[in-house]
Amino acid sequence: MENILDNVENPPLFLVEERVKTFKNWPFSDKDKCNVRNMAEAGFYSVATGDVDADAAKCFLCGKELDGWESCDDPWAEHKSHAAKCAFVQLGKREDELLLSEFLSVIKQYMINDKKRVAEFAKELIDERAKRAKQFNRHLGRK
Ligand SMILES: [Zn+2]
Repeated sequence: MENILDNVENPPLFLVEERVKTFKNWPFSDKDKCNVRNMAEAGFYSVATGDVDADAAKCFLCGKELDGWESCDDPWAEHKSHAAKCAFVQLGKREDELLLSEFLSVIKQYMINDKKRVAEFAKELIDERAKRAKQFNRHLGRK
């Protein structure tokens, strides 16, 4: 159980500046439509683990992960077309245009989603343990 907390995202990714910081190896330049700033403003942060998936990005709110970006892609439009139900897409505004109440609702949703992720991870962990306990019992000839 102790490692559950490792799975929680520590940086407050509901802040655009925190999302910008995650893009360390983004394949496009600032002159491209699909640049780091536009990605972060559209709710994306980088989930790249190396060169092969350098353009893997995920929405901080709905968790939609997208890759295969083109330099001329509009991150907002892509977010909209792939995750129309995302609460951030539905607000349809950049972070600095949000009303305080809207921003708070985004943070609230982010925290709820984060709790859900932790709960799902905990459930997997428990299921895994239950499976292992069953196998162990079977191994011992118990039921
Ligand atoms: Zn989203």
